[in-house]
Amino acid sequence: MGQSVKIGPMTADTPTALASSSPKIGFISLGCPKALTDSELILTQLRAEGYETSKTFAGADLVIVNTCGFIDDAVKESLDTIGEALAENGKVIVTGCLGAKAGDGGGNLVKNVHPSVLAVTGPHATQEVMDAVHRHVPKPHDPFLDLVPAVRDEFRGVAGIKLTPRHYAYLKISEGCNHRCSFCIIPSMRGDLVSRPIGDVLGDARALFESGVKELLVISQDTSAYGVDVKYRTGFFDGQPVKTRMLDLCARLGELAAPYGAWVRLHYVYPYPHVDELLPLMAEGKVLPYLDVPFQHAHPDVLKRMKRPASGERNLERLAAWRAVCPEIVVRSTFIAGFPGETESEFETLLDFLREAEIDRAGCFAYSPVQGASANDLPGMLPAEVREERRARFMAVAEEVSTRKLQRRVGATMQVLVDHAPALGRKGGSGRSYADAPEIDGTVRLLPPEKASKTLKVGDFTRARIVATDGHDLVALPV
Ligand code: SF4
Repeated sequence: MGQSVKIGPMTADTPTALASSSPKIGFISLGCPKALTDSELILTQLRAEGYETSKTFAGADLVIVNTCGFIDDAVKESLDTIGEALAENGKVIVTGCLGAKAGDGGGNLVKNVHPSVLAVTGPHATQEVMDAVHRHVPKPHDPFLDLVPAVRDEFRGVAGIKLTPRHYAYLKISEGCNHRCSFCIIPSMRGDLVSRPIGDVLGDARALFESGVKELLVISQDTSAYGVDVKYRTGFFDGQPVKTRMLDLCARLGELAAPYGAWVRLHYVYPYPHVDELLPLMAEGKVLPYLDVPFQHAHPDVLKRMKRPASGERNLERLAAWRAVCPEIVVRSTFIAGFPGETESEFETLLDFLREAEIDRAGCFAYSPVQGASANDLPGMLPAEVREERRARFMAVAEEVSTRKLQRRVGATMQVLVDHAPALGRKGGSGRSYADAPEIDGTVRLLPPEKASKTLKVGDFTRARIVATDGHDLVALPV
């Protein structure tokens, strides 16, 4: 699961050079970075086939809505968006996680609520979506575009249309998940783990660095499980054998990033013993000393009820060992407060863990039942006020820890990747250090440089001296 990213009915790289008579497709992408990469694949294929994208529903020949079905709020947002697209356009194809969900009384949920949609697919279904597009808005013929090679396989496309700014990109290394956490329905929507061939992943990474990407965000449902499904088989990249394994992947990504001075950031890593092997790569600067580890809870009984992967690991000891090898490591995590049956004392164990583990960046959801999740059958559902009150208490502690850790940075000089810099940064701008992933962490607010000759450019790195903290953010002077 992940942060929701919403994009309007347009793309970052809308092709403008195509003939205006080309059919136009409206596109809305809801959901997490994994859904975003599915959107990028579909948009890349649309462009390769000569379709244009439309900035409005009304001006499109057809609208595609990529949905999220993770929590009930996301389901509602997706269903509302489909309703809007139907009202304004009438021709709508639905894809994504919600598309794979069954309705209450059987049948398909989306079809039950919006029977007039033209087609519904699950996530990760570029070809099915394209087939539906072809049925309703025939593929344009263009003697030049017909020569453009088709997307290589259904995973590919990251070096095609990107929905992120030019300087960072998500790289999906696998699809699906072998775990069965009791609060999660992702495996029922996306299936078991399927790792992408390592040669393809590395090829995409190189293409992204070559196209100007300065920060590569590795995503999946479980990055630490990369290669498990193919028994870590040996693949090939540039004619060299490489194992389909997280450590080998990260080492090679670090090598590919080095000539560009680019960052490699890892998301959704579980605290398994083999993750320890990554720490030397972080200490050597090959991948960022940043790990996004979704702990979800700290009490062993709650973790068992959640059926969490790595629930038997001694996480405090593991974190201490990581910090011993790489003291600058930043750990981000998400947690759930008020899980069914959570006692006050189990919750306090969670707060103690947060303080002791010194989690740099912690997010927390109040537990909310997800239709179809097995946790719904657990006894001891807590009242909404208790769940919400625990979330608020959690966030107060998380803020204390985060502020204390941020304050230690005041006076230090850090490398910052510039995200915004109007007027070449003469009035300042903003960016992120290695400690901040886009969208989910804090930012570094950049003050106007003191030297008139110093400029800031989006997508460039700058060095900046941290002068203050501001909530979850830092304030810095470019030097
Ligand atoms: S690890 Fe658990 S929460 Fe994450 S996708 Fe798999 S089942 Fe869902």
